[in-house]
Amino acid sequence: MRAHAARTHRTPIAAAAGTAAAVLLGAGLAATASQPATAATTVDMEKVVLAAQLDPAKNGTDPTDGAAASVKAVEQALADAKHLDAKHVDGHFGSATVTAYSAWQKSQGASGEAANGLPGTGTMKKLGEKGGFAVTNTIDLGKRTTVDGQTLNQRTADMLAEAEKISGVDLHLTQGSYEADGADASAGTHDGGGALDAATKNLSTDDRAKAVTALRQVGFAAWDRTGVGTFDPHIHAVAISDTDLDSSVWKKDRNRQIFDYYNGMDGLTKHGPDNGPNVAKQTWEEYQRSS
Ligand SMILES: [Zn+2]
Repeated sequence: MRAHAARTHRTPIAAAAGTAAAVLLGAGLAATASQPATAATTVDMEKVVLAAQLDPAKNGTDPTDGAAASVKAVEQALADAKHLDAKHVDGHFGSATVTAYSAWQKSQGASGEAANGLPGTGTMKKLGEKGGFAVTNTIDLGKRTTVDGQTLNQRTADMLAEAEKISGVDLHLTQGSYEADGADASAGTHDGGGALDAATKNLSTDDRAKAVTALRQVGFAAWDRTGVGTFDPHIHAVAISDTDLDSSVWKKDRNRQIFDYYNGMDGLTKHGPDNGPNVAKQTWEEYQRSS
């Protein structure tokens, strides 16, 4: 990219306080699992969105680490609104919860991909008003911007700028996000937010590895597609927990790339082994708090 996008800094103190509050309230919630959410309940949106991307494709109903109390509060509110059967109020954001959340989005006037069941900040806050919970650690995508002639949201642009900074590798984008008429080879993964492709034909093997490592460190599910299949040589990256992700990126029966990434797979249709560097899995918000 050429233009330098300003990196937005969150306030780590406020974010940490929100997490602590969610943990404390989570302990209380677990003891009163069958009770409706109360006004004092706090829902950690980052945890809920991560669970929505990781839980549906699991075998079984394990919750995502640290997410159970927040997911349960969301599920209780969905059940109270008659979108979810009470038996699914379990802290696991499985396919039934995705369908219920989609119904909630539709009831708020959303349609198509905007009602795909991945929670966004607007519908989460409205559900909180109805269900009696406060939403902390909201995910802010910012406005849309242009990098190398490609459309990205500001969150994705900031992530890319940081990855280029820490790797020292200048990336040139060949695809961005929000490409409703995107290339067929991408199977819709670039139709929503958070997606980008960077050309690798002018990068050394070493620089490709550095770039993928840095993209992963800042919170992308990123893979080097150089020499893979019939693709033009490129790095494909999708921003974990971008609430505008197209359903083809995260849904169980689609590419489920976020699930694949967290579980050591390649994000392709056959779900083969990950060919990339082993980097601790984290979101952009987690990266910002840790750096
Ligand atoms: Zn791509």
